[in-house]
Amino acid sequence: MPGLLPIPTEVDRPFWEAGREGVLRLQRCAPCGHIFFPPGRRCVACGSPDLHWTDMAGTGEIWSWVVMHKQYFADMPTPYVVLRVKLTEGPYLMANLVDAKGRAPEIGARVRVVFQPEGDIVLPQFTFA
Ligand SMILES: [Zn+2]
Repeated sequence: MPGLLPIPTEVDRPFWEAGREGVLRLQRCAPCGHIFFPPGRRCVACGSPDLHWTDMAGTGEIWSWVVMHKQYFADMPTPYVVLRVKLTEGPYLMANLVDAKGRAPEIGARVRVVFQPEGDIVLPQFTFA
């Protein structure tokens, strides 16, 4: 899916580089402790620019999900599952469910991050924990 892949920017490059290390790393605000995604230049809670990249456990639970049945992109065959995951540390990420081995997604199901190389980038995805 070359046309769909993110292009790292100055702001989010540490996120993508962490993925190459197999680590989910998000920004944590030093003054207020808020952890958030997507990356930004200032804390979305208090506006502070004092942000530090912090390793996450890579675990969470399915907050919501959808099964895509309509094929929008030639290189993304259907069906596939898109999750909204609430990480153990609190922030939400959207990613695909992979290696489900026939198990259907359920709200509250425990998942863990896995990293999949795609082109020049490594994408965080989730599988059942
Ligand atoms: Zn803050």
